[in-house]
Amino acid sequence: MPKKSDDLLIGSHMSIAGGLHNAYIRAEEVGCRCVQLFVKSSNQWRAKPLTDEDIEQFRAEQKRTEIGPAVAHSSYLINIGSPDPALYEKSREALMIEYKRCVQLGVDSLVFHPGAHIGTGVQAGVERIASAMDWVLGKIPGGKTSLLLETTAGMGSHIGSTFEELKDILDRLDHRDRAGVCFDTCHVYAAGYDIRTEAGYRDTMRRFDSILGRSSLKALHFNDSKYDLGTHKDRHEHIGKGFIGEDAFGFFLRDPKLAGVPKILETPKDDAGKYDKMNLALLRKLAVG
Ligand code: MN
Ligand code: MN
Ligand code: ZN
Repeated sequence: MPKKSDDLLIGSHMSIAGGLHNAYIRAEEVGCRCVQLFVKSSNQWRAKPLTDEDIEQFRAEQKRTEIGPAVAHSSYLINIGSPDPALYEKSREALMIEYKRCVQLGVDSLVFHPGAHIGTGVQAGVERIASAMDWVLGKIPGGKTSLLLETTAGMGSHIGSTFEELKDILDRLDHRDRAGVCFDTCHVYAAGYDIRTEAGYRDTMRRFDSILGRSSLKALHFNDSKYDLGTHKDRHEHIGKGFIGEDAFGFFLRDPKLAGVPKILETPKDDAGKYDKMNLALLRKLAVG
């Protein structure tokens, strides 16, 4: 059962197998206070439109479990940084459909990977990403869902491994009010930001604040890393069992400026929810120092 008195906003990415509302049931079982889910199958382009029943069931579980906020993660196929016009169009359309589903479901934010420029340069990629985000937000006006750029490890030509690149995207938007950033601890560390010590954490957040502004930070992904600082490799590990180590998570959890920001695990899973329970228990311990 979720601890309703406990206002630590921690949760995990949950499976939607058998229906979107099941993410809430699974989140409740492991004791989440917030949840992340896919709003459609993550490795397919197509999705059946949501029915009224899908939406009602989802909202009913949201209300019953009192778990919130809800964060959606977009499909991995989407690349709005792509120079290929056909893939760009397809990606932009798919992101718009996911954004629309989030608005229908009452999901607070939609996280997506900024995209890869595939050899055409960061600047051209940044321009394509910003223009696709504005297109999506312009197509679905009035929604309360935030569209969040996820920080990346910077593998290959992926954009978003520096705070400056994310700022460049956000600065170009007409719909800046519905855009923000999801900070993934594994990716940021793999990109070269050393958050292992208190001084390193403070320095990283000071840079984030001065470049992007703390109010841009709408979600955190809590993952330890299987690879070391600056390796640009994106492989998640259980909290405290990777190169980042558990201390860093305590710095985030005890930062009063992040109290209202959902902190979501994307760590390895087992069927019984044992791993989620283990990681959430460790985070509760780290939150009190
Ligand atoms: Mn992601
Ligand atoms: Mn992530
Ligand atoms: Zn990752």
